Amino acid sequence: MSVLTRLRQIVQEVASAADLESALEICAERIRDTMKTEVCSIYLLDSNTQRYVLRATEGLNKDAIGKVSLSPTEGIVGQVGTRSEPINLEDASTHPAFLYLKSTGEERYHAFLGVPIIHQRKVFGVLVVQQRDVRRFDESEEAFMVTISAQLAGVIAHAEATGSINPDKNVSGEQSGRPARHFTGVVGSPGVAIGEVRVVSLTADLGSVPDKDVEDIDAELETLDQAIAAVREEISEIAEALATRLRTEEQALFQVYLRMLDDNALVSEIRERIKLGNWAQGALRDVIQSHVREFSMMEDAYLRERAADIRDLGRRVLNCLQEGASGKQQEYPANTILVADELSPAMFGLVPEEQLAGMISISGSGTSHAAILARSMGIPTIMGVVDLPHTRIEGRHVIVDGYSGRVFVDPKDDLLSAYGDILKEELAIAAGLDKLKELPAETTDGHSMPLWVNTGLTADVERSLERGAEGIGLYRTEIPFMIRDFFPSEHEQIETYRRQLELFAPRTVTMRTLDIGGDKALPYFPIEEENPFLGWRGIRVTLDHPEIFLVQVRAMMRASEGLNNLRIMLPMVTSVHEVEAALAQIDQAYRELCEEGFDIRKPPVGIMIEVPAAVYQIGRFASLIDFISVGSNDLTQYLLAVDRNNPRVAGLYASYHPSVLHALQHIAQEAQRVNKQVSICGEMASDPGGALLLMAMGYDVLSMNSNNLPKVKLAIRSISYKDSLALLERVMRMSDTAEIHAALRAALQERGLTQLTRPDLPGEKV
Ligand code: PEP
Ligand code: MG
Repeated sequence: MSVLTRLRQIVQEVASAADLESALEICAERIRDTMKTEVCSIYLLDSNTQRYVLRATEGLNKDAIGKVSLSPTEGIVGQVGTRSEPINLEDASTHPAFLYLKSTGEERYHAFLGVPIIHQRKVFGVLVVQQRDVRRFDESEEAFMVTISAQLAGVIAHAEATGSINPDKNVSGEQSGRPARHFTGVVGSPGVAIGEVRVVSLTADLGSVPDKDVEDIDAELETLDQAIAAVREEISEIAEALATRLRTEEQALFQVYLRMLDDNALVSEIRERIKLGNWAQGALRDVIQSHVREFSMMEDAYLRERAADIRDLGRRVLNCLQEGASGKQQEYPANTILVADELSPAMFGLVPEEQLAGMISISGSGTSHAAILARSMGIPTIMGVVDLPHTRIEGRHVIVDGYSGRVFVDPKDDLLSAYGDILKEELAIAAGLDKLKELPAETTDGHSMPLWVNTGLTADVERSLERGAEGIGLYRTEIPFMIRDFFPSEHEQIETYRRQLELFAPRTVTMRTLDIGGDKALPYFPIEEENPFLGWRGIRVTLDHPEIFLVQVRAMMRASEGLNNLRIMLPMVTSVHEVEAALAQIDQAYRELCEEGFDIRKPPVGIMIEVPAAVYQIGRFASLIDFISVGSNDLTQYLLAVDRNNPRVAGLYASYHPSVLHALQHIAQEAQRVNKQVSICGEMASDPGGALLLMAMGYDVLSMNSNNLPKVKLAIRSISYKDSLALLERVMRMSDTAEIHAALRAALQERGLTQLTRPDLPGEKV
């Protein structure tokens, strides 16, 4: 067997272990066997005592497990951890750091190889192999150890974070008798929410199916039987339809599928799990996943491939179960915390707005579109909580701390009361901000700063008007496209757009043409790419599909008839020829509408600057367009080369990175030079501190989520334009993002605006 296969097997076995202890045991055993050595031990760093504790061993005295420990300055194990690099010794006993641990019985062993277990820069422990002979482990052995340690680090870190490899256990602190367990992600939308979890899953995605207790077990068994019967029928039909076109061995595959659905095989396992109280979908997930794991570990390539068949079969059954369930009305508690593997705008509508208290997404980050929408709705949301065992927490009580990005499962009373106080404070602050609605967004020395809003849903418009918005700087037209089953017709689009234009008239409404791709998918127009943010996105898609683009701009213009408050904006522009091509189509649509007898004023057309290439061509674009709007969310991801949707690099996504600030200042200066109105509609404009900098840079309009508009207005009304210029000058000299954050925070606090900065949170020094 190749080393690679062996490695994969070990990692899979460890990942499916019942708990951390057995995972470590499997690890030690398999590594010792594979390396044909005498000892393999695992030391993990205890975060409380900061000592490396022996947690598993094959070869040393097992009684020492959990008892023997070393500080980072003790022994060779401590050295491996402290230096974060492997140490390979012919004879450990001659090393100056050697520390003889009597209870382990290690005196017999000479050769020593220790490699650190590191996850996200943090040393979690040390993996050690030892041998009696005096000899050096060779290079390939060292390489194997480094590789396996790197792969296991993620599994072990996850296990430590969740309290267990198997998320069945220890989701909350109460079960393990420890303080409330918390899981960390990144802030999607700030605020605090306390409520009960409801998990929603993507259709036909087994991995995101939650567990749910059932009371009527017989009814659940019946539901399963119906789904299985439907799948059997479906497979037989496909097999029949393809009978003449398939070779015999391919036809045999369908027979295999049907056999798998036999009562004695998979189905009876699923039935057993239902009888233990789980609903059919959860039982199906467990059984399918465990078989998929078994097959993927097989040595035989043919058998390994069968894992895909089982997964496919599982998906088919799930599909039938979900179709059956969709007819039933789901009940949501008064304070629902919506949890999803991948939160999408279409899911928001599942829960009545007044019952939706908070949201949690396992994937995604703070600038994912789901997070942006959550902010505009003012719903505390945490993204990228990768360790949360989301399929196991249906019905649990949680606190969503949308300031620090933490989720507490089954919190105790003291924590509940501390967060309850923050909630009350938030309500009082919101009530105070309501009074600002009629007041102008003007600095203390009379500089006025137009505050517009970003919208996507009709509900956003009403909320924005209540908050005193002066225009719409970005209407994300893809949102109404995303919550449907097929492309809306011209008439349907006219209706949707007209509502935005009418409600806001005579104020300006800036409609962005369809910006799909990246993390915005239409269920009926899938785009599958390796690198979606560098792929077919925004204007690149619509220029390739004039039939979609023309219908959309026609609908926008027809919707504006008699109102004349429309502006059209093009997303993801990189080159002048894209703008020329889009303008030609807008002209064509306008000409046709005039010929058809509509009395429409031609709308101003602008572009978004969100790709670095566009930053340096403002002079060239100027003669073609009427206005410029900066999409700082994308501009930041492209300038910093950080995927805005990837939780693993969320910490690197820095809106206040000096390069981002310099690009934003350059754009404002260039726009002024070519005499074009320049606005910004990225999330930075929604941040009170960021808004002050953007005002000082010379932006003509700040467009933000409606929820933050009162906060930004309060910040602007509390500072003089002169002081904002001085703040900008100071910040532009700084080279560290954290320093910039601190300066903005201090500027708000000096003006008595502590309510605009993050509150002090329980258990955390801010
Ligand atoms: C942006 O990129 O800043 C922007 C406003 O567009 P979106 O967030 O919809 O990509
Ligand atoms: Mg964008």
